[in-house]
Amino acid sequence: MTHEQTIRDAVCCTGFGLHSGAPVILRILPASAGTGIVFRRTDLEGFPVEASGRNVARVSYATSLMKKGVLISTTEHLLSAFIGLGIDNAIVELDNLELPILDGSARPFVEMIQQAGIRKQRKPRAYLRIVRQLELREGDKFIAVYPADSYSVSYSINFPHPLIGKQSFGVRLTNGAFCREIAPARTFGFLHEADAMRQQGLIRGASLENAIVLNREEVLNPPLRFSDEFVRHKVLDLIGDLALLGKQILGSVVADRAGHAMHTALVSRILRDQSYWKQTALDDRAPEPELAAAGSVWA
Ligand SMILES: [Zn+2]
Repeated sequence: MTHEQTIRDAVCCTGFGLHSGAPVILRILPASAGTGIVFRRTDLEGFPVEASGRNVARVSYATSLMKKGVLISTTEHLLSAFIGLGIDNAIVELDNLELPILDGSARPFVEMIQQAGIRKQRKPRAYLRIVRQLELREGDKFIAVYPADSYSVSYSINFPHPLIGKQSFGVRLTNGAFCREIAPARTFGFLHEADAMRQQGLIRGASLENAIVLNREEVLNPPLRFSDEFVRHKVLDLIGDLALLGKQILGSVVADRAGHAMHTALVSRILRDQSYWKQTALDDRAPEPELAAAGSVWA
């Protein structure tokens, strides 16, 4: 994977936004090399919003982009699928403000991209190589990136819930591991927090079909897809948020009880300060970049 890639054919799906509850039609289209990932609001004359840390807006329970007042909400699951499958360039059209939540994971997006097919482009892929460590702390939350010859992610969470508690996860994303180990992991939330969140205008589209829902003791809609599905979903979110760097990373990312706000803070710091990274092509003699990996609600 040393060249940029896009999809072969356009693909389409429909669904509802997790937080807005708004119906949405989403289309993914091929794009020329060097385009990156660009969202377009077809209900607003196709206004483009680039998937870039420059456009990060509100970040709490989901990551939203905004440019000139135009919002694109809950971008992280689709962007994670693009990184996991090595898609550099695509146009993502939607006719509403929030991406569809589908089943709460990245798996439906992976299946759409696989259905579309993947096309290698002529342009060599430029990587963002981390050359200096960067650590961010906020209370007991931590996120950091360290120099490495491949892309790795590790995540730890600690939720005071009998079914979650402490979980850490590590995975290598080569040979389809993203599709097997990360993409199916669904978002999750707690029933006893749902009313308060709805009053804040959140999770209006949430249901037992698009999230793991827990009460204080158990999962209301078993079975889990993995016993540690919760931390795997955090890895999924982190990969999706770091996609806002706009390039595949060569570096090792470590997160502990972080969330979208810290993920995107790391992106902003890296983009702001060029002393942390340099742009490189992948050395052909080096191994392929691999994603190796070692909480909040409605992650
Ligand atoms: Zn998520």
